[in-house]
Amino acid sequence: MTSFKATSFKALVLTEQDRKVSSSIETLDTDRLPEGEVLVRVSHSTLNYKDGMVLNGLGRLVRSYPHVPGVDFAGVVEHSSSPQWRAGDPVVLTGWRVGEQHWGGYAQYARVKADWLVRLPDGMTAERAMAIGTAGFTSMLAVMALERHGLAPGAGEVLVTGAAGGVGSVAVALLARLGHRVIASTGRPETHEYLAGLGAAGFIDRAELAQPVTKPLQAERWAGAVDSVGSTTLATLLTQLRYRASVAACGLAGGNDLPGTVIPFLLRGVNLLGIDSVLAPLPERQTAWSRLARELDPALIDGMIERIPLASLPDYANRILKGQVRGRVVVDVN
Ligand code: NDP
Repeated sequence: MTSFKATSFKALVLTEQDRKVSSSIETLDTDRLPEGEVLVRVSHSTLNYKDGMVLNGLGRLVRSYPHVPGVDFAGVVEHSSSPQWRAGDPVVLTGWRVGEQHWGGYAQYARVKADWLVRLPDGMTAERAMAIGTAGFTSMLAVMALERHGLAPGAGEVLVTGAAGGVGSVAVALLARLGHRVIASTGRPETHEYLAGLGAAGFIDRAELAQPVTKPLQAERWAGAVDSVGSTTLATLLTQLRYRASVAACGLAGGNDLPGTVIPFLLRGVNLLGIDSVLAPLPERQTAWSRLARELDPALIDGMIERIPLASLPDYANRILKGQVRGRVVVDVN
């Protein structure tokens, strides 16, 4: 147990009444925080699609209220009873059901397990880490999975769907930086300039990919793909992957179904790679974060940021569920 002297702090707290979830900003005491070896003084958090669901009480992601949401946070270790961490260490946390089953980052303090934290790579600020957040970390995992399955620069066009969203934006920037020709699929033409700035070389309207699959195979086009949409979009792009190419399936912004056929697997040997960021093992996390620090241009990350205070979260939660958020929302918890 910690010998840290209790301190009061600000948090966004969700409560449930008559099956309706509402939020308020409250002052809590660090004694109220859940068990864990490490107390972190949080400086920044972020808003992911999943946070939007939690803030609206959707998907039964939270089982017990009152609850502090926020699936990602970055800050500095305040106190640790584990030898893995010392006061002053800069850390980042994504996943592990923090913000869902465990209190999360929409607060000035969080207490978590020592094994859940990753040291912030040298040169990366807490704000940039949160601009990356679970969304960007997931994009890196997706790129790493595509590389493990043979994707190399020069192979051809790489498709990113949901391109103007969080996962998509970072995927576009990463793939372009790694030397790929990136085609961005978006339903928002007004984001073309933004996406071109991140490195997109061409665009495809998301409606084109979202059509029901009528032919089990279409002309081979994509050398690889990062998909955050699912449903007919993923089913269609499977029919357009080149021989033995892969798609990394990250999300379900367009639906959780997959209405296609197995023909692309059988006749083209394509690969459908599942990406899970929540329980990704520590060595992969460390590799992903150090690559994000190395391979993402800090100026591009800064250009994706929209900064908001805790109080704006309910409004932004609704916007992210409607697909109206561009790039990455960073929450300054102070
Ligand atoms: P965002 O809301 O930021 O981005 C999603 C994007 O998908 C939107 O910006 C939009 O892009 C597109 N989109 C939205 N609605 C639709 C629709 N009905 N049909 C087609 N496209 C649509 O969310 P994130 O980037 O944070 O997350 C994206 C997905 O990835 C979510 O489903 C999320 O749950 C999942 N995810 C999964 C993780 C994992 O570990 N596997 C981790 C993190 C996220 P545009 O406007 O450009 O068309």
